[in-house]
Amino acid sequence: MKVFNIITVYPDFFQSFEEHGLIKKGLNRNLINLNIINLRDFTEDKHKRVDFKSYGGGPGMVIQYIPVKNALKTINSGKCYLLSPQGKPLTQNKLENLSKEENITFLCGRYEGMDQRILDNLVDEEISLGDYVISGGELPAALIIEGISRLIPGIAENIESIKNDSFCNGLLDYPHYTKPENIDNLKVPDVLLSGNHEEIRLWRRKQSLGNTMLKRPDLLKNVNLSKEDDRLLQEFISEQKAKEIE
Ligand code: SAH
Repeated sequence: MKVFNIITVYPDFFQSFEEHGLIKKGLNRNLINLNIINLRDFTEDKHKRVDFKSYGGGPGMVIQYIPVKNALKTINSGKCYLLSPQGKPLTQNKLENLSKEENITFLCGRYEGMDQRILDNLVDEEISLGDYVISGGELPAALIIEGISRLIPGIAENIESIKNDSFCNGLLDYPHYTKPENIDNLKVPDVLLSGNHEEIRLWRRKQSLGNTMLKRPDLLKNVNLSKEDDRLLQEFISEQKAKEIE
């Protein structure tokens, strides 16, 4: 079982997270465990404070070293990740690596952030969601746990479909269609109704390549394209041009 330790000043934040979707399934099947740790339980302050003013002045409060150190002492933490806008931005590749770790600890920041000595001495790595700032590490932690959990065999219904997800093979996903076949003059592409698996595979690969070229050309640079891929991409480009002329 994979154990996610979450150190937070808002433990209630994770209540509804545990009650839905694949997190609920993973918990029920004992494939994952969420160990939610209230940082306030580990302060030595009689008012249960875990934050204090910043040395040197300025606005905002800073989370103190002692409660974090005490909280970490009580658990089998594995690696300790601090959610922080200063970390490397999260990628699918990172989620795959994290999914191989047994115990993981997420430290959720609040206020101005953490006392620097927490980073110096207690944290293994910072992880960011991207180049923007939000007000706490709880949403990022939940997001990362969801991203990891869906890669664990036995939690997602269909592990094959995950392999086709955007970013899993370096490309964006191909378009999906479901019932009805016709709506508002928009028809499902014939090939998807043909039952010809090889044709469908080629069409999907072509759309996946084309989608990536149109929406995220930067990703294509990191993919080794086969001869078949080159041909499919050329076809996609010609078809796009033909559509534009229409
Ligand atoms: N003063 C800090 C930001 C504090 S925001 C700085 O500029 O680096 C408060 C907390 O929200 C952070 O400690 C972190 O846990 C979380 N947070 C904010 N933005 C984030 C992001 N992009 N990725 C991950 N965590 C983030």
